[in-house]
Amino acid sequence: MRFYQSEKGLVPEPLASNTSQLQPISKIKDFSSPPINHSFSYCAELQSYLQGKQLLLDDLHFSLQTIHTHYENGYILYRKGITRTTNGHKCERCGNEAPHLFASFHCERCHQPACTYCRKCIMMGRVSECTPLISWTGPFDERHIPPSPLNWDGTLSSGQRAASDAVIDAIQRNDELLVWAVCGAGKTEVLFHGIETALAENKRVCIATPRTDVVIELGPRIQRAFPQVDVVTLYGGSEDRTKTASLTLSTTHQLLRYYRAFDVIIIDEVDAFPYSAEPMLEYAVNQAKKEVSTTIYLTATPNLRWQKEVKKGKRKAITIPARYHRNPLPVPSFKWCGNWRKLLQKNRLPANVLSWIHRHLLQEKQAFLFVPHIESLEKIVELLQKEDCRIEGVHSKDSSRKEKIQAFRDKRTLILVTTTILERGVTVPNVNVAILGADDGIFTESALVQISGRVGRSSKYPTGEILFYHYGKTNAMLQAKKHILKMNHDAVKRGLIGQKEEKSVK
Ligand SMILES: [Zn+2]
Ligand SMILES: [Zn+2]
Repeated sequence: MRFYQSEKGLVPEPLASNTSQLQPISKIKDFSSPPINHSFSYCAELQSYLQGKQLLLDDLHFSLQTIHTHYENGYILYRKGITRTTNGHKCERCGNEAPHLFASFHCERCHQPACTYCRKCIMMGRVSECTPLISWTGPFDERHIPPSPLNWDGTLSSGQRAASDAVIDAIQRNDELLVWAVCGAGKTEVLFHGIETALAENKRVCIATPRTDVVIELGPRIQRAFPQVDVVTLYGGSEDRTKTASLTLSTTHQLLRYYRAFDVIIIDEVDAFPYSAEPMLEYAVNQAKKEVSTTIYLTATPNLRWQKEVKKGKRKAITIPARYHRNPLPVPSFKWCGNWRKLLQKNRLPANVLSWIHRHLLQEKQAFLFVPHIESLEKIVELLQKEDCRIEGVHSKDSSRKEKIQAFRDKRTLILVTTTILERGVTVPNVNVAILGADDGIFTESALVQISGRVGRSSKYPTGEILFYHYGKTNAMLQAKKHILKMNHDAVKRGLIGQKEEKSVK
């Protein structure tokens, strides 16, 4: 849309009386927004729809007149969708500055022969030079929060309790905090009291994670813990996408529609693909939180840079080095298995891997076998299924992924061969784990730590076997083992493993 710049601010083309100086919003140099008029009676429906968001005109089912009146009274902000940089353009919605991710088209809306738009976030509607991003600058609606919103009678381990206190403290001080918790530490419970504190202060909380399946799994758990609080879950295709709530669970992608929305943002699995590999998602998180806010990062495997920052005291962090059931993390054993790639080409598997599989079949003991790639997976599964039908394979492009994981949970499948797709998130009690080809580049330190973390998760079966079959140890393998040993060492030092602690009385 084109705008006319008057003394009082911007006027959109359909409402402008002066049509001589109309320009696409991105071409208008500087413009300020009208101050807020406290006596203006705003539209509550618009408030509820737009608060905390950055939307396009096309996303709003309100008339332009309604929207613009709110702008004139300081309740709505217009921002440029695309801005100019020294090198080219920047998309203000997704942060994209890569020249090859911009294109231009003959635009009917602004009558320019070449209106530049962002290709990167186009799946959420086109942002071009004539697209204003529209946000709410008026007050947010009041949420009704019951006096004690948390309904959870579980007990925190002392490791969890220390982390829970640190989370509460960070929320009260609008600070940043990394919670570095081993796989199986029970990190969701660590958030409960912090969320309760935030809600009591009428703060809006968002738990964001890169992975859709985590949002779907977490939704019911959070709602059960906070039964009287409005909770929305946002992911591609979810029904809640237009709602706002006191407690939001979202994929990091969906946060692209949010702007200055949350007082507390908790990022789960901060190191997980695609968050770590995709700067857009970090940009989205930064846009979605309020200027004064708390950011809590959760992970079992912070990247090397963060680990160093923690060591040097440059990043605030609390570690939970022990699992909630107070048993040490299973430590991987390295097993040389010869040139597994070459053997696979000849349709064979290393002898020691085969005997590991046979042992599990014989004892009817469930196990995951991680392999590096889909191609190797297909070959291995084909070879193994000739031996026993209780073996199945699963990978990211597998359309029956859910059913196969369910069959494994139901113990109909004994051995599940998988790629790194199952390195995190999936918890099955009483399994052993082996990696065939642990020396492959895809198995980074964090992947190896996460995979090792699949073993011994439940308090009923707190131990198990984790084997790295390899053709030459890699740095990542050594680092992963060191990482796990260090966590166990710290846990012993802090008295977090060993005898059961007394139940705390609340
Ligand atoms: Zn245009
Ligand atoms: Zn964009």
